[in-house]
Amino acid sequence: MKGVKLFRVLGIQISLNYTWFIVFGLIAWSLASGYFPSHYPDLNPLTHWIMGFLGAFFLFLSVLVHELTHSYIAKREGIEVKEITLFFFGGVSQLTKEPEDSKKELKVAIGGPISSLVLALIFWILFRVTLQSPHLILIAGLLWYLALINLSLALFNLIPGFPLDGGRVLRALYWRKTGSLKKATRIASGAGKWIGVGIILLGLFGILKGNLIGGFWFVIIGIFLRSAAEGGLQQVVMKGALEGLKVEELMSQGVISVSHSLRIDRLVEDFYLTHTHITYPVLEDDKIIGIVTLKQLKEVPRDQWMEKTVREVMMPIREEIMLDPDGEAVDALQKMIRTGEGRLPVVKGGRVVGMLTRRDILNLLEIKTDLVE
Ligand SMILES: [Zn+2]
Repeated sequence: MKGVKLFRVLGIQISLNYTWFIVFGLIAWSLASGYFPSHYPDLNPLTHWIMGFLGAFFLFLSVLVHELTHSYIAKREGIEVKEITLFFFGGVSQLTKEPEDSKKELKVAIGGPISSLVLALIFWILFRVTLQSPHLILIAGLLWYLALINLSLALFNLIPGFPLDGGRVLRALYWRKTGSLKKATRIASGAGKWIGVGIILLGLFGILKGNLIGGFWFVIIGIFLRSAAEGGLQQVVMKGALEGLKVEELMSQGVISVSHSLRIDRLVEDFYLTHTHITYPVLEDDKIIGIVTLKQLKEVPRDQWMEKTVREVMMPIREEIMLDPDGEAVDALQKMIRTGEGRLPVVKGGRVVGMLTRRDILNLLEIKTDLVE
């Protein structure tokens, strides 16, 4: 997920997804031009804007506390957390692996909403306190808003549809009952999909009744939840199996590569018909300069096989078609899906240190996901 790196807390990198800036602006704007002016019409616009920015900033902190609570519990349960990315409606804590039992999953999942409820309660108490003194009325307004928004954060995340926290709780409970993580994930993301549909319908109903903006938000949230639930199931199964695995551990060494000056007829005879690989790295002075695949070979007319060299038909090397030995296997698989190349060279300092194929990853995935059942 692309974003801006901010700072580290508890050894965890905190990042902002680019969507966050839009959300931050929208929240500050809606507070400054809607909420505060309607509640405190006597104050000047500048004050409304300052309050708007403060509100958006404290919302940011609230979401951060929610995510940090998940991460803190995960760490205490022995699951490393690499990064927290804040975006759109909340955040994503990138755990390095899925919890290995339902009890851990339950603890990690429930921590976030509980911290939001506690924050809501704290802001509400502070609100009651500041309400006593008339000159703090503006602060009281902000505190009331923050209490409300934290309560909404807790309630929204408790919706029992995976991958929301409530859905994770549901999954943990089913997991404990059935003993199968895969089955539990299927049920919890099924719930997520249907709740998503329900929220979309509620939104459409709202729009029909004239509540345009509120209805529109419901539709967006519903679509978000639906697609997240669909993607979540596959991703969880995949990530659970591959997370933490490096390209280096899966790649095959002893790579067979070809020289850039090799003639095509020799390439066919000595490589394609001898080793039966589909892709070969192309070398010049021991450094990789490209890859040649069956697809490029097929484009060369047979009567030119004696004239053309590998260099003339190869795909020149670029970031998108090579892998880093220290990279994650999950990312490597995504790169292969993106580029449509099922076999990519693993390159370090310009030298080919291995090859990784989609089959290698998928075979491992199949074995691992079957064992998780
Ligand atoms: Zn959460």
